[in-house]
Amino acid sequence: MPLYDYECVKCAHVFEVFHKIDEVIDDLACPKCKTKRPRKLVSQFKTNQWSQFLDTMERKISPHKFK
Ligand SMILES: [Zn+2]
Repeated sequence: MPLYDYECVKCAHVFEVFHKIDEVIDDLACPKCKTKRPRKLVSQFKTNQWSQFLDTMERKISPHKFK
């Protein structure tokens, strides 16, 4: 299950949540101030080509991590 970064729209606290790619969590709330509907951050892991390259390499070296 992928890990997503969310940023609280009120206190700017960034926190991580595990959920499915197409899953929308309606009652997701900031762990600090309990404000709902945090902003989803685009993961650098997915957008950064260098990270993608490292990810590909790591899959080859240690595929057990990605099962
Ligand atoms: Zn907050």
